[in-house]
Amino acid sequence: MEIIKIDDRKKLAFPRFHHYNLAIRYIVEQGLEQNYLLLPEATKETTELGSKYSPDYACAPFKHTLGSLIEAVNAGADIVIETGGLCRLDYYGALQREILRELGYRCEFVNLAEYMGGKKKEMIWLAKRLNPKVNIPKLLAAVYDGVKMAEYLDDIEALYYRNAGFEAQEGSYRKAYRQFLLEMQVAENHGEIRDGYQKAKQIMENLELRRSQYPVRIGVVGEYFTAMDAHSNQYLQEKLIRLGASVERYLNVTNCHFRAKESALRPRIRDYVQFNMGPTTTWTIHAALDYAKRGFDGIVHVKSFGCTPELDAVPVLQNISRDYHIPVLYLSYDTQNSDTGLDTRLEAFYDMLERKKKVLR
Ligand code: SF4
Repeated sequence: MEIIKIDDRKKLAFPRFHHYNLAIRYIVEQGLEQNYLLLPEATKETTELGSKYSPDYACAPFKHTLGSLIEAVNAGADIVIETGGLCRLDYYGALQREILRELGYRCEFVNLAEYMGGKKKEMIWLAKRLNPKVNIPKLLAAVYDGVKMAEYLDDIEALYYRNAGFEAQEGSYRKAYRQFLLEMQVAENHGEIRDGYQKAKQIMENLELRRSQYPVRIGVVGEYFTAMDAHSNQYLQEKLIRLGASVERYLNVTNCHFRAKESALRPRIRDYVQFNMGPTTTWTIHAALDYAKRGFDGIVHVKSFGCTPELDAVPVLQNISRDYHIPVLYLSYDTQNSDTGLDTRLEAFYDMLERKKKVLR
């Protein structure tokens, strides 16, 4: 008689956050030995769903993550995990839990903010809550690999946005990038993560480029979630490379969490800022100054509508713009943005940068 093994593992879900869900999936499946519900790419419906049940005044990341959580519960998640984080993100979990309860959802809800005191003990409590039989050494190894994967994801993405605008064969960079993401989506061990990364890097570095002698270089800075999450910023970086620019974005999980502490960056921007002004404002200003000093042609500042810390960064960016003669385009996102409106602004900005470059050459 055939014995059917019942999969009694729980299905965990996390709100979409750019490509980092692939690393979270790895940690959940390989370290916590539970199932992970990897949501498909967000759509207009995700945003509408999040907006519909959010308070009007909430900043856009609240709405995007709530939309993801509702879709995750509808797709059968047993446990949904809300991000904790800097700024208001830390309070989102409690409010989103209430909203989901009021909507009648009864799944387990874990608010990461309650475990983010930075103590190892708290993380172990969390791991045991998610899987009472968790094997801690195995989990730690998976966390290490997951962090490595996040770094590789950031690295390959940076390579993509720096060069894909100049590919000699249309779609070649995109194809290599998509293949890499697929490999990270199914990776089951350290070796597969490392091999997928090395392969993608090698393929990308060997692809033929037709870079103009003076390519337009644009740096993206701004509020943490919206600057990184492509769906939230309406695929801003993709739009810029399609116009022909080389694009960099310093703000990513690797740079903000693993490489540079706020206190280490602040002395480098002391001519402009004396104090820590908010969650990732130091990273924003540091990156903008770095782009200006490296001779970039323009900066795009991205923030969610109503984001106070990044609003405070605007006058500082204006000072950098004045001192280094570098134009800055300010984009503020809510959940009701028109693609055409954004395209028009980006085209005008890119044309201006290109003309300025020709005149100054
Ligand atoms: S940084 Fe801005 S967008 Fe992010 S949680 Fe804070 S106010 Fe909201």
